[in-house]
Amino acid sequence: MITVFGSLNVDYVFQVPRLPRPGQTLLASDLIVLPGGKGGNQALAAAKAGARVAMVGAVGKDGLGDVALAGLETNGVEISHVTQLEQPTGTASISVDAAGENSIVVFAGANHGISHTQLESCGFDDTAILLLQFEIPLAEIERAIGLAKQSATQIVWNMAPMQPVPMNLLKKVDYLLVNEGELDELCSLLDLKACDEQAPDRQALMRTVAAHTGQSIVVTLGAAGCLAIDDNRLIEVPALPITPIDTVGAGDAFAGAFAAALDQGLVIEDALRWGNVAGALACLLPGAQAALPTLTQILERLPDLVS
Ligand code: ADP
Repeated sequence: MITVFGSLNVDYVFQVPRLPRPGQTLLASDLIVLPGGKGGNQALAAAKAGARVAMVGAVGKDGLGDVALAGLETNGVEISHVTQLEQPTGTASISVDAAGENSIVVFAGANHGISHTQLESCGFDDTAILLLQFEIPLAEIERAIGLAKQSATQIVWNMAPMQPVPMNLLKKVDYLLVNEGELDELCSLLDLKACDEQAPDRQALMRTVAAHTGQSIVVTLGAAGCLAIDDNRLIEVPALPITPIDTVGAGDAFAGAFAAALDQGLVIEDALRWGNVAGALACLLPGAQAALPTLTQILERLPDLVS
């Protein structure tokens, strides 16, 4: 069972001829309203990858919560632990111009009212997985990790978007999951230098983080697949060769499928492979949630990863 403790949003995607200048009003040629938020996206990714998933989050009483949750409910995600607050549902206003350039305004709204107390009735046990992102307050993430640590629940933290974080907390997280940019941000926030100053490359940075936390770190590398340091071993998994249409949500697809594989009891090498296939397949359709692959689609393409 995977519990996702994270954000739920509604994204308004406006198609505009060009991004507006200060003071300018533009007419959009199209508007698409989509469910989003990294928490919701990853809960759906894990459910589509075959896992039993509970979403724990917060929406407003403004009717938008139904939009944020519709896809989750249809795909069997347990949503009874989602709370309704007085604040507006988290919202993103995304303007996309003719060249595909975008400009985004996000209001966290109810996501900032989420509480770890919502997790108390979830019943973590030794086979559970807690999947976190970084779109809710750090204080609540810390308390959620504290609750999960009362059992042998495995904790997977996709630290996106990266923010300042205490090292002590990272020591409690079984799998840190970041992309390349987030790895650099994490190291600079923690003032970590590569172990080997002569070769401050990505792997050296990953080894430094793993040495400080004593836990595993996974770094996603877009079209280059992913790398992990687990138990002092470096694991490299190549990407599925594809021609991407829209890479939005690739990281969320990876995180959800990675957690779903761990939930099945698979070893980290296999979980990374599931993540890579799901991430790549999510690049073949526009949008985040609409592009997430099913378990069958993931299993079908696993043999296409060159080992
Ligand atoms: P994020 O979306 O968080 O920036 P990445 O861009 O690293 O994360 O993508 C997450 C995963 O999705 C990658 O590790 C990879 O498995 C897959 N992926 C992303 N872009 C591509 C691509 N162009 N080709 C194949 N796989 C991709």
